[in-house]
Amino acid sequence: MAPKIYTSPVAAVPIASSSVFTHLFPPGPPNTIAAFPADTPAFIDAESGTTLTRIHTKQLALSLAYGLKHHPDIRARRGDVVLVFSHNSLSWPVVLFGSVAAGLRCTLSNSAYTPNELAFQYADSGARLVFTSEEGIPTVLAMFAQLRIPLDDARRRIVVLEAALEWAGGPSMPRVAAARGLKTLANLLAMGVLEHEERFDGPDTHETVYLCYSSGMYRVFFGSSPPNPAWKGTTGKPKGVETTHNNIIAVLEIVKTTFPTLTIGHDSVLGVLPFYHVYGAVKLIHFPWTCGTPVVIQARFDPEKFCASIERYKITVALIVPPILVVLARHPAVEKYDVSSLSSLFSGAAPLGPALVKQVTERLQLRRAGKGEVAILQGYGLTETSPTTHLLPFPDALRKVGSIGILLPNLEARLLVDGEGNGDIDATEGEAGELWIRGPSVMKGYLNNPTATKDSITPDGWFKTGDIAVRDAEGYYYIVDRRKELIKYKGFQVPPAELEGLLLTHPDIADAAVIGVDSVKEATELPRAYVVHARPGEVKTDAAKGAFQQAIRKWTQERVARHKFLRGGVVIIDAIPKSAAGKILRRELRERAKVELSGR
Ligand code: AMP
Repeated sequence: MAPKIYTSPVAAVPIASSSVFTHLFPPGPPNTIAAFPADTPAFIDAESGTTLTRIHTKQLALSLAYGLKHHPDIRARRGDVVLVFSHNSLSWPVVLFGSVAAGLRCTLSNSAYTPNELAFQYADSGARLVFTSEEGIPTVLAMFAQLRIPLDDARRRIVVLEAALEWAGGPSMPRVAAARGLKTLANLLAMGVLEHEERFDGPDTHETVYLCYSSGMYRVFFGSSPPNPAWKGTTGKPKGVETTHNNIIAVLEIVKTTFPTLTIGHDSVLGVLPFYHVYGAVKLIHFPWTCGTPVVIQARFDPEKFCASIERYKITVALIVPPILVVLARHPAVEKYDVSSLSSLFSGAAPLGPALVKQVTERLQLRRAGKGEVAILQGYGLTETSPTTHLLPFPDALRKVGSIGILLPNLEARLLVDGEGNGDIDATEGEAGELWIRGPSVMKGYLNNPTATKDSITPDGWFKTGDIAVRDAEGYYYIVDRRKELIKYKGFQVPPAELEGLLLTHPDIADAAVIGVDSVKEATELPRAYVVHARPGEVKTDAAKGAFQQAIRKWTQERVARHKFLRGGVVIIDAIPKSAAGKILRRELRERAKVELSGR
């Protein structure tokens, strides 16, 4: 039977074959950069108001590209990988655009990572340089020590993104980097200007440009010698997602067809989601640039600062995750500041319930008296799809609340159900099935991991999302479940296998399983561990149990980034429920958790 393939209701758009840089900075008439006046503000530091115009951004990017190619410590060559380890700052667009102009690949890393987590990504991605914020310096140095890279060599591999924004015409501050013998972004910017960017035309457009890390859907096999026998051949480590120049150009063009038109002089976007996640990097650094719209950059989410920035910069569009909506539903800052300019909020990266959408829409609508409708719209995607594949169009905000929207143009979708021995078969109309996506924004594959790539992309190009979706008769999609083993804490990936692997290294733990439990209050999932004590006799009393659970939470917190903390609790159990093949029966644990938490 022919496969049931869904397409988008929106007509396909042309997608250029070039480098991301050439796409964003095409040759054009003087006094314009990519069709918009060169002096238009492009990126603004929320705290100080320091502003980069479009022309300034271009000059800085080409200066950084020159510095990267010519600094004696670096001498970067086309294809080299640089790691970015920083909270959001005005440096980000310069670092990304400059690295790409120099022909480099950027791997973006969670700014809360521990040295151990960072070392994995640095080594796995083959990075040779790290851009780090000032506060990241100790972690980066500890990472190099772990990798046994001598201090002098490590210092040469670091570029500090200082808090001082003098290079952008902003405020000066005490120098941190120089005092530690490290070079800064400002040092690289002062060396010269690259005349022509590295080109990636024609087939080269399919070369990798960004490497975000995702745990993906399938577990990776260790080979012959797992470090812990109980670990049973899984690492749970994240995988480098190879996003190409063409993937980025494709997603920018296809998103534009469904995103409300952003106009220069009227709109401004709040850049609060982390830029190290593909959602932030694409939608907050690249996308507004293509619309000529300024992005106001905030280091991290803080309710007061979020609302204060909306007032100060007359923000019209904000990209958010569901937990931010929870805050907007209740926090007094929404009343304290004039947030009436805000007309669209885009939520992605995690499930969003209709009740919360309605509540926040009503609250914001009251503040907008006479200024038109406010819309909270959902989008959907994955790191592997660069990311957005679905968006809810503006007029459908309430009519289709809860939906991730329509399939974007140039993409195809299938919904598959388990054919019980006959492989995956197409779901019938209206039936829930695993969402598969094919199209130009699907990643090239997982870096150096052909097995994982083969497991997730079929020979004819279908990427298996691992999410279960329903498509209604009008072509709107709803995410209803997840097939893969992934927990999302406030939009951040928490791979259960990684936490399980860690817990199994604890001397008092004989076996472990980690699942996600829903927190309606925080609109997120929370990681919850089930552990088997190595000597059950030691945790017989309630007091001993409580002390052990506390100790495990603390022990985990000392070893992983904040989003992986066991906020959903630690439960002592006699045995982890497993199938005959040794697979953890997570559904059983999820049911059990529901009962355990129902009394709360
Ligand atoms: P990431 O690669 O970190 O962006 O994570 C992708 C995963 O986040 C997807 O496979 C989904 O499980 C989840 N996700 C993203 N957007 C949504 C959404 N709108 N609703 C439900 N889940 C989502």
